[in-house]
Amino acid sequence: MKKRVGIIGSGTTGLQLAYALLEDFDVTIISHRTPEQVRSGRVMSTQVHFGPAREREKRFHMPDWKTERMIESIHITVGDQKLFAGRLERQALSVDQRLSYSTYAEDLEKKGVAFQQKKITDQEREALGEEYDLVVDCTGKNGPLFPFPIENDLTPFREPQRKCIVGYFKGVKPVTPCGVSVTVIPELGEMFEIPAETEYGPVTILFITAVPGGPLDMFKGIKSPEAFTIKMREAVEMFFPEIHSRIVDEQFALSDENSFLQVAITPEVRRPYVMQNHQLVLGCGDSVVLNDPITGQGCNLSSYCAEQLSDLLIEHKHNDRWGEELGVLYWNRIQPFVKEVTEWTNAMTQPLPGHVIQMLLSGAQDQEKADHVARWFENPSSAHQAFMAKV
Ligand SMILES: Cc1cc2nc3c(=O)[nH]c(=O)nc-3n(C[C@H](O)[C@H](O)[C@H](O)COP(=O)(O)OP(=O)(O)OC[C@H]3O[C@@H](n4cnc5c(N)ncnc54)[C@H](O)[C@@H]3O)c2cc1C
Repeated sequence: MKKRVGIIGSGTTGLQLAYALLEDFDVTIISHRTPEQVRSGRVMSTQVHFGPAREREKRFHMPDWKTERMIESIHITVGDQKLFAGRLERQALSVDQRLSYSTYAEDLEKKGVAFQQKKITDQEREALGEEYDLVVDCTGKNGPLFPFPIENDLTPFREPQRKCIVGYFKGVKPVTPCGVSVTVIPELGEMFEIPAETEYGPVTILFITAVPGGPLDMFKGIKSPEAFTIKMREAVEMFFPEIHSRIVDEQFALSDENSFLQVAITPEVRRPYVMQNHQLVLGCGDSVVLNDPITGQGCNLSSYCAEQLSDLLIEHKHNDRWGEELGVLYWNRIQPFVKEVTEWTNAMTQPLPGHVIQMLLSGAQDQEKADHVARWFENPSSAHQAFMAKV
């Protein structure tokens, strides 16, 4: 008989895990929203999936997306000085999670994965052990449900380092070559301009990461789509004149009334296993490794951790039972990469070190160096190496 795996959460992590495990296990996803509720709900992220995450989606036969607007480059501007457009090694893509999550969930159901619509409470979590050989907590930033202990060495902050302000817009002329544009305004924050695919066609995501309390942190109290749009136009005009010059006045609007978001995240890393009533419980994705979105690594790291976990479970599928030692193996496998990604991301929220600024400036003179910087985002180990280099 196949072992029963209960996955709580149907986001990037839970869905990829289900695809990877469905042949070898009896998989159930428990999630508090139906695909239809996700599809018609609020945007959740900006979700640029870089080459390695896209390779995994292919490996696990997840549905692909047809688009002519693949992300090929990263454009870097500091202040009002455009430095360069570095080329990614492989194409990246951002698909609105409302569309991707609901599509994957419907597809998984057809492939035999069971779904339960339910919000698991702290009281209910204990009983899950009776139904499943393993429970994996993939509850994302609203989790975790289980008491995974915080890893203090990898959790330096007690409060958010940025306010995240996101809107999916029509009416912004794209940059060429197609890519993500990053504008850094020292001490105030950043703007990420991201081409994305949605149910409403192609959009440009304008994503401000504002230093809390600074002049870019100007969206406080804004709740309606109309007020959000007006404020975004004001912020772009004031701080990002180059983007402002590409706005087509009569077309500039949110793609739909749910396509804006404000959130602030305190990055937090937890040891991703606990024992509950002598049974192993694992965590995967944001529930145990929560990153500031500034480097766009959350989905990519979640996808990496989900792949490591699914490979491990398949290797150990014939064990009589899964105990704490499997949790230790899992944590040992993912920890080095988790450390690199989170340390780099945390460093990005602080003033950039001098040698990193020099690297950015040299990218303006040398295309190879520009490409190297762009590839930090698809290979965060190289970014970690660059940031932590002793100079
Ligand atoms: C503003 C912003 C921009 C971002 N941009 C990027 C980017 O460009 N690139 C990138 O890689 N990452 C980005 N991220 C991070 C990325 O969105 C997350 O890392 C990723 O979505 C995590 O996936 P997950 O499956 O772990 O969690 P989620 O996607 O949050 O999914 C959690 C799931 O758990 C369910 N759930 C929660 N609690 C319960 C419960 N009690 N019972 C049942 N179900 C429950 C939820 O309904 C949901 O289905 C961004 C994040 C933010 C906030």
